[in-house]
Amino acid sequence: MKNGVVIVGAGHAGVQAAASLREEGYDGPVILLGDERELPYHKPPLSKTFIKDAAAQPQPLRGEAFYTGHTIDFRPGSLVERIDTAANSLSLAGGDRLAYDHLILATGSCPRVLPLPGVDLAGVLSLRSVADARLIRDHSAACEDVVVIGGGFIGLEIAATLAAGGRRVTVVEALDRLLGRAVAPLIAEHVRQRLEASGVRILLKTTIERIEGEGGHATAALTSAGERLPAKMVIIGIGVVPNVELAGTAGLTVANGIRVDGSMRSSVANILAVGDNASYRHWQTGGDVRLESVQNATDQSKLAARTIVGHGGDYGAVPWFWSDIGDMKLQMVGLTAGSDRQMLSGDPAENRFSVFHFIGDRLAAIESVNRPADHMLGRKMLGLGFSPTAEQVAGGAEALKAALAALAAG
Ligand code: FAD
Repeated sequence: MKNGVVIVGAGHAGVQAAASLREEGYDGPVILLGDERELPYHKPPLSKTFIKDAAAQPQPLRGEAFYTGHTIDFRPGSLVERIDTAANSLSLAGGDRLAYDHLILATGSCPRVLPLPGVDLAGVLSLRSVADARLIRDHSAACEDVVVIGGGFIGLEIAATLAAGGRRVTVVEALDRLLGRAVAPLIAEHVRQRLEASGVRILLKTTIERIEGEGGHATAALTSAGERLPAKMVIIGIGVVPNVELAGTAGLTVANGIRVDGSMRSSVANILAVGDNASYRHWQTGGDVRLESVQNATDQSKLAARTIVGHGGDYGAVPWFWSDIGDMKLQMVGLTAGSDRQMLSGDPAENRFSVFHFIGDRLAAIESVNRPADHMLGRKMLGLGFSPTAEQVAGGAEALKAALAALAAG
């Protein structure tokens, strides 16, 4: 174990993997390589608070002292270009080589590119890193009209944040609903209505055909319906693609992400993959998934560290996610795939409700709007494999708590 563990990517997953290796007692070298120059930071605030506050700074995942204190050799500005699996080594931009005993790929994902005329104009932006967020913040200071292409979580968070900051925002979504792949139609419709009430214009079943500009800067976006939307800033938020090039060229199996087994090992045994870039067979649905969430990055990285020190196991974390869109805290736990029965708890008119998803009698997922107690109880219930009855769901958080207490009492 002379070369230790090298981690590629210093985001949520990479930093957690380094921390967990030390927590698990790993005492070999741990080298954390990140291509960004920042101290690793939390990504979720970027679309929620950072872009509206000129004074906001990135929130570090761990203070600088953490890396030195835990003998984690964090090297910012280190872009890994190639992996040589036969030699157990990698090459960095600039030519340096680094050998490893174990390699953890935590390269995350990047915004999906939209091939449109005009996407290269200044003011056409997407959001993944703090550098992107700074650009959005700087551009928004000088523009009144913004077009957001894509009605997914990040697009809607940005739309709500910029609208609250006084911008006129239009969201353009190709499908006939918002948050198309992610939440129940009831929640998507609720989000649409509240965003519209807060001044965000939403165009469904609409695409952007081209972005127009003057002097190299965006000025407007032309919709499929022929409408010309003035916009000095156009934000493209149509999802992400996993960063798999390194893995692919090294010969690792890639299928909508770097393919890993239940212990986070890739098709090459001493290379593991975690976070947004990893795809795996999900224990709950039996289907292949690649999840993009802080929870997934954190839990997979903890398991990867355990696998390396020799007491891994099978990944069985309950998936959960949150998103803050205007005055709505959305929280999702479990997976809705295959859901064949839904129960509403609470009242959408009060902006506080949850949708419980079942497959037969089995609880599969809960999606909540401003009902954190339902979400936390959902994490417990799904973790225990407990499915509430219709009466217990109708009884609200108190009835669910009582059901869990009865379960614990045997
Ligand atoms: P990342 O955090 O993206 O880290 C990957 C790192 O690897 C990056 O720094 C990248 O630059 C680096 N890298 C890539 N290739 C190389 C290379 N070849 N060499 C060196 N370094 C490399 N999730 C939630 O659960 N709730 C939220 O509310 C939420 N909001 C979000 C808001 C925004 C704006 C964004 C962008 C994401 C949000 N997410 C949210 C998703 C969450 O942040 C991601 O799921 C999480 O960051 C994944 O962690 P990761 O380490 O896999 O990837």
